[in-house]
Amino acid sequence: MRKREKSAALFEEAKKYFPGGVNSPVRAFKSVSGPPLFIKKGKGARMEDEDGNVYIDFCCSWGPLILGHDNERVRAFVLETVANGTSFGTPTALGNKLGKMILDNHSYIEKIRFVSSGTEAVMSAIRLARGVTGKSKVIKFEGCYHGHVDSLLVKAGSGLATFGESTSAGIPESFAKETIVIPLNDREALKAAFEKHADQTACVIIEPIPANNGLLLQDKSFLECLRLHCSKHNVLLIFDEVISGFRVGFEGAAGHYGIQPDIMTFGKIIGGGMPVGAYGANAEIMSHIAPDGPVYQAGTLSANPVAMAAGYAALEQLLIPGFYDRLSALTRRFADVIESYAKQQGWTLRVPSIGSIFWLCFSEDRITKADEIDSASMEKFKVLHHELLQRGVYLGPSGYEVGFISAAHTEQDLAEALQAMQESLHVVFDE
Ligand SMILES: *Cc1c(COP(=O)(O)O)cnc(C)c1O
Repeated sequence: MRKREKSAALFEEAKKYFPGGVNSPVRAFKSVSGPPLFIKKGKGARMEDEDGNVYIDFCCSWGPLILGHDNERVRAFVLETVANGTSFGTPTALGNKLGKMILDNHSYIEKIRFVSSGTEAVMSAIRLARGVTGKSKVIKFEGCYHGHVDSLLVKAGSGLATFGESTSAGIPESFAKETIVIPLNDREALKAAFEKHADQTACVIIEPIPANNGLLLQDKSFLECLRLHCSKHNVLLIFDEVISGFRVGFEGAAGHYGIQPDIMTFGKIIGGGMPVGAYGANAEIMSHIAPDGPVYQAGTLSANPVAMAAGYAALEQLLIPGFYDRLSALTRRFADVIESYAKQQGWTLRVPSIGSIFWLCFSEDRITKADEIDSASMEKFKVLHHELLQRGVYLGPSGYEVGFISAAHTEQDLAEALQAMQESLHVVFDE
């Protein structure tokens, strides 16, 4: 047994300081067993906890670390930058440098505004959409996560009600009422929602590659249908690419599907492991943002130079030709090996993947909607998670979370992880 004594003690201590002992709820290991791992350091695809256990990491800080831990060029540029101070509250040349690099290589946006998290990016994008259209309602999809924005912590109401119900205490009903929730990949529901609410709706927000509640890959035709409806009814289409941006290609899901959204949001990878978010659109839409326009949005630490340096050094490496092809091929092979092994054993397990994202799905069928996920199967994930930790493989601590492969994962890392995966799955299915 790998010991988790130091992590356990640190977790007990952390409970004195933080609600639930954590600063973000999923970290608490509520749906898997044991105390959360307190990580001390990472290098490449591996990270080490306070007890000295080393794990091959498939969580990658929930997505940002597409280059793995402690990337040399990111570290070097951060150190060089931080030597000049940490924050000035003024524009910096480094902000320009990252902004230019993104816009030069991203054909779906013309201007961008940096913020400090994905949540902040989404919150600002919604305000922008409301400011531009003068309308207030938002259509979102069940199973898409857009950060902890009040009006988006909402799921479908029960029965026939299409207005949302908040999924958190502290959200006024009147806010939740501004949000309409419909199922993913369902053209009829989309059509009905537009017929009823389009004249009051500012925007539709979607994760074009939904990856926060399993990996619910959508039909391209559904996304195209969404684009058409939005254009026809003066409703802005927001692609929340906080997770898919720079992940399935430099131009994210927009580039992958060839669909032009009206506003895009970014986070995670864009900061190279530092807290950065951003939203972007064409120049006309972005001209509504203060100080050019009347939509107010600001941030004391926005475009923080150290974070800009990390983002620049990371994104620069993603632009190297072949970067995404190699990573996608590696991921597809990894997913295919697990899936075909499971099939050979007669286990109910599918491993959908796209770009460098994969998901372990305990189901026979392709799943495109949140309510098709079998919640009972999460017991299987719990066992799997535990067995994998014992064998030195770290997955995000919930069966609803996707896994990520980074450019730092070597063939050796993946071969070891596959061995651990097969052994662990035998425990899940055979015992
Ligand atoms: C992670 C995520 C967010 C929230 O970003 P934070 O930086 O955690 O605030 C929003 N939308 C999507 C699609 C995400 O994956």
